Amino acid sequence: MKIGFIGLGNMGAPMAANLIKAGHQVTGFDVAGVTLEGVATAASAAEAARGQDAVITMLPNGEILRTVYAEIVPAGAQGAVFIDCSTVDVDSAKAAHDMAAAQGLLSVDAPVSGGVGGASAGTLTFMAGGSDAAFSRAAPLFEIMGRKAVHCGAAGAGQSAKICNNMLLGISMIGTCEAFALAEKLGLSAQSLFDVVSTSSGSCWSVNTYCPVPGVGPQSPADNGYKPGFAAELMLKDLKLSQQAADSVSAMTPMGARATELYAEFVAGQGKGRDFSAMIEKLK
Ligand code: NAD
Repeated sequence: MKIGFIGLGNMGAPMAANLIKAGHQVTGFDVAGVTLEGVATAASAAEAARGQDAVITMLPNGEILRTVYAEIVPAGAQGAVFIDCSTVDVDSAKAAHDMAAAQGLLSVDAPVSGGVGGASAGTLTFMAGGSDAAFSRAAPLFEIMGRKAVHCGAAGAGQSAKICNNMLLGISMIGTCEAFALAEKLGLSAQSLFDVVSTSSGSCWSVNTYCPVPGVGPQSPADNGYKPGFAAELMLKDLKLSQQAADSVSAMTPMGARATELYAEFVAGQGKGRDFSAMIEKLK
């Protein structure tokens, strides 16, 4: 396929590289002037999108996504599929779909989980929203860049799934950190707590796979000085999106709200640039 790729940052660059490796023809654009081996460089986002079979965006936020879509949608070829993999607010995702639909283009919101490691290894999980036709056009590309793609529903459903998952993750990580911090004060070793919880009803991904205590459980950022991994500021971004979405539908998310406050304090203090599991140091 001929593919336009806009936003060649930490995630976009390795995703584009995997498409090249699989034999696709990729034209890229990034405002920061990023160039990538094997990727033709366009002079603008519109130029990267013009005449392509698929156009992928991997951008920082919803405001930028809307600006870029206003530029690239008019350049879209008939029959093209527009795939946005950025994590953005649900309203911006829907606005991007509306712009594409007004031009007769297929579109999918398809945020990812798996981080930079998953983007490089081609093992991302895609959670997608959009029509069946749009999802089937995008699916072969998801297979190259990822290991799993779930069609969650109509326009915006991918972003909804992403922020619900990450709100739960933020809450569960704080709960995990609280439990380990309390155990320490009670004179219980982290290893003993892990051995019990990881096979008991408190088990969860934050304990079993990504334990915030160094030397306990499988390798995690805690074993690497809390170098991200998944940076605390990205967790804060996703928690804020969850609260924006909750407000827009009057959903009650008191734990999500408190997790957002705690991560905001953490990022304003010692947490910036560190993995989100370093929250344990704040709670200690
Ligand atoms: P990044 O900041 O490294 O990359 C974003 C890129 O977009 C930058 O290179 C920037 O120059 C470019 N850009 C900004 N405005 C642009 C414009 N108008 N036109 C063209 N390019 C533009 O961020 P990232 O880590 O690659 O994340 C991208 C998206 O993926 C975000 O929405 C993030 O929330 C999401 N995400 C990131 C991770 C992760 O671990 N990094 C994991 C899952 C999801």
